[in-house]
Amino acid sequence: MEYEAVIGLETHVQLRTHSKMWCACANEFGADPNTRVCPVCLGLPGVLPVANEEALELTVLTGYLLNCAIPGFAKFDRKNYFYPDSAKNYQVTQYDKPSTQGGYVDFEFQGAVARVRITRAHLEEDVGKSTHFDRHSGVDFNRAGVPLLEIVSEPDITSAEMAYEYLNALKDILSYGKISDCDMEKGMVRCDVNVSVRPKGEKALGAKIEIKNMNSFSGVRRALDYEIPRQIGIVSKGGRLTQETRRWDDVAGITEPMRTKEDAHDYRYFPEPDLMPFTPQADWLERVKARVVELPLARKQRYMTSFQLPASDAEVFKNDVPLGDFFSRAAAGASNPKGVANWVINNLRARLAETGATPADVRFAPTHVQELVELVDSGKISSRIAQEVFNEMYASGDAPARIVEQKGLAQVSDTGAIEKFCDEVIAANPKSAEDFRAGKAAALNFLKGQVMKASKGKANPGVVGEILERKLKAS
Ligand SMILES: [Zn+2]
Repeated sequence: MEYEAVIGLETHVQLRTHSKMWCACANEFGADPNTRVCPVCLGLPGVLPVANEEALELTVLTGYLLNCAIPGFAKFDRKNYFYPDSAKNYQVTQYDKPSTQGGYVDFEFQGAVARVRITRAHLEEDVGKSTHFDRHSGVDFNRAGVPLLEIVSEPDITSAEMAYEYLNALKDILSYGKISDCDMEKGMVRCDVNVSVRPKGEKALGAKIEIKNMNSFSGVRRALDYEIPRQIGIVSKGGRLTQETRRWDDVAGITEPMRTKEDAHDYRYFPEPDLMPFTPQADWLERVKARVVELPLARKQRYMTSFQLPASDAEVFKNDVPLGDFFSRAAAGASNPKGVANWVINNLRARLAETGATPADVRFAPTHVQELVELVDSGKISSRIAQEVFNEMYASGDAPARIVEQKGLAQVSDTGAIEKFCDEVIAANPKSAEDFRAGKAAALNFLKGQVMKASKGKANPGVVGEILERKLKAS
């Protein structure tokens, strides 16, 4: 019997705000333990939370970017549990009335566009971080109360690789929208994976296994590559799986049981009495909508359709937004956008990398790249000279046509001048001339190279070839 995996992901993303969710403490990474805390995020008695408006905006903006509906009424709830890293003994989250509902993410997967539906993206607060030493443990509450977005997908994912691509696409969208810095090293993105298996074609879901708190996308992929065959191994031998939570051991490369999974009623959810429901008004929503950006996939497709670029070039401009924007300005109205892309990717990007500069630091105007391409395409300068012009443009910011004129770099197509160079080269290289006449085609390239050298790269190579061949055949 053939089996299939059914995978859903819960992705927790740290929002990019200056302050925490309910207080004015800084939302920043790397400070000394318990130096970014106050009575509110420590959950001391008698304090009241005040919602961070930027966090609410980023949540709704994420809803728009993930094609979700934004309900007119949302609220906050307490999820009650005891754990040392939660000073309040509850976590504020959104239980049955989240701020966004029912969207989807489209992304490229195996040469086509795949879609994973989004159940919801809701706001919640992070908790502290426990550290275990030899004889005692410590808790750092700097992270307590930091705004998190939990993005829950429908179980539309069918393989480890698809989960990996979905997560990367989600990260790109959140980075584009400046929702989160998505810095994995700093724990800004964490995932819970729900995975079950069932005989192919069956509708009912198998026992759901949750793998908790994964902090890298490659870890998610490896955990699924282990977990899916493990589950299939059990059920195909007639064994039974029960709903449970497992932990991924990245070093050993295995998942292991953590606890049997608790149900929602174990958390005794109830509405947070200290916070008003969230009822966004039309003008506020309009303001958030104005922050919506073009999505990564749409951007890539635009480069391919508007500029006829190959997928590989479009991918470069999708991944490097400032460079892509520079290209868009450089190639606007260009007759040869691919030529412009070649200069931006092969030359400009390399120069920027060498000097640690960004497209904003470039001294020449974007349209100068288009001008440079036109100079080459029209035969005014050779591609070798174009390199020299580009270097000069990069250094001085001057327009290419001006550089060509000032430095006398225009290609020589004047046949009189080229004939003279050809005569000299043939006279100086009688052996090669003879080789060519004896049928060695390569000899022509050598002679052509000599003429180019004599003209300091300025002779039109096409014209040089024609004249040389004519002279050699005639003599
Ligand atoms: Zn605080």
